[in-house]
Amino acid sequence: MRSCRDITALVSQGLDKSLSIRERLAISVHVMMCSRCRNFQKQSQFIHQAAHRYTEQLQKRLDKKS
Ligand SMILES: [Zn+2]
Repeated sequence: MRSCRDITALVSQGLDKSLSIRERLAISVHVMMCSRCRNFQKQSQFIHQAAHRYTEQLQKRLDKKS
């Protein structure tokens, strides 16, 4: 089993690029047993989505101005 450090690093990487099946599998197996990493994964996905929405809104506003 991979360490929590490995898993959090993989989760962060997964937000910006697509992971291999093996990496995604390692994450899912780990978060099933580890609540700390499960929370980390939830939070980072939430922040990532919020940041994404924010950038989209900003972009729309900028498009209107031009
Ligand atoms: Zn963990």
